[in-house]
Amino acid sequence: MTSKDNIAPIAPPPTHRLKVDKDALANNWKALDALSGSASTGAAVKADCYGLGTDVCVPTLRNAGAAMFFVAHWSEVLALLPHVEPVQIAVLHGPMTAADVDFALASGVRPVINSLQQAQRWAEKGGGPCHLMIDTGINRLGVEPIELSHGVLQSLDVDCLMSHLACADEDNPMNGEQLAIFREAANKIAHRRLSLSNSAGIALGKDYAFDLTRPGIALYGGVPRNELASCIRQVAYLEAAIIQVRNLTAGDSVGYNSEFTADGSMRVGTVSLGYADGFLRARGPGFRLMHSGNELPVLGKVSMDMIVVDLAQTPEVSEGDWLNVPFYLPDAAQQSSVSQYELLTVLGKRLRNC
Ligand SMILES: *Cc1c(COP(=O)(O)O)cnc(C)c1O
Repeated sequence: MTSKDNIAPIAPPPTHRLKVDKDALANNWKALDALSGSASTGAAVKADCYGLGTDVCVPTLRNAGAAMFFVAHWSEVLALLPHVEPVQIAVLHGPMTAADVDFALASGVRPVINSLQQAQRWAEKGGGPCHLMIDTGINRLGVEPIELSHGVLQSLDVDCLMSHLACADEDNPMNGEQLAIFREAANKIAHRRLSLSNSAGIALGKDYAFDLTRPGIALYGGVPRNELASCIRQVAYLEAAIIQVRNLTAGDSVGYNSEFTADGSMRVGTVSLGYADGFLRARGPGFRLMHSGNELPVLGKVSMDMIVVDLAQTPEVSEGDWLNVPFYLPDAAQQSSVSQYELLTVLGKRLRNC
């Protein structure tokens, strides 16, 4: 056999990994389903399941019982089709072009209609069952309640009539205001189901659940409201290996722009994790990696593919040893001032291939 033979070489094991705890993911869906009361519970699976990987997460959510799957883009649909029925998929951005409508009709995936123009585009090609987003105050996508009497909307075959809460993660009067607007709007157009709540909305109570809830972040271990802290488990675990150990002496600096300088001799480890993996610079100084309960403070700036940690507390670790990267989202968000959503969705593609 020569190297020209067409056999793909097997990739050697990586030096960092993202582990998705499928049991925790299923647990979180079930906990949110229980909190949703008599409403059925879907799953927001946009952005490759918030960075954790569609192929791992969607079958787990489907097997747990998720009824509907929400993506933002039409380009996200193909990755879902091997796992769920087309009618279970809703595309939140709706049809922006005739090609989007053609794709929806050919695949059986349902659009969320967000404007009169989108409704027109859908109806022109024959349309069929769709979902309809009403804007009740977030002012991103959706038809205005006052537009609901418009003929093209009245002629739609609306399965799920939806709206989206702007401030569900806070105690904000806007929640009640949006609820009232949504209830009133629901009387103005025929529909089969109503849906208002994201993860945080589910924690606002039964009034907000209607027929279908749409959790996202809490499925993946985010805790957008304290009420959810007791039932939501961490899903994403991050580990990275030490790829070199070195000894510094007083005056030696570490990393770009020499932001850390040793004031005495110290042993440090270079770890295979960087901002290209989603370990942002905001998580650098003050952040710690862990090894068997010991803390390893990050030194200096986070590089694209590496960070350097202080091994003072862990004289036993050496090249090839694995470190845990604390990734309980509420704590990581507080430590870095990066939102729980962003911490997940910036996770690098490189980590997911492990
Ligand atoms: C992303 C999204 C959700 C899920 O929101 P979380 O805050 O992640 O639970 C639900 N509905 C819509 C319309 C969304 O865009």
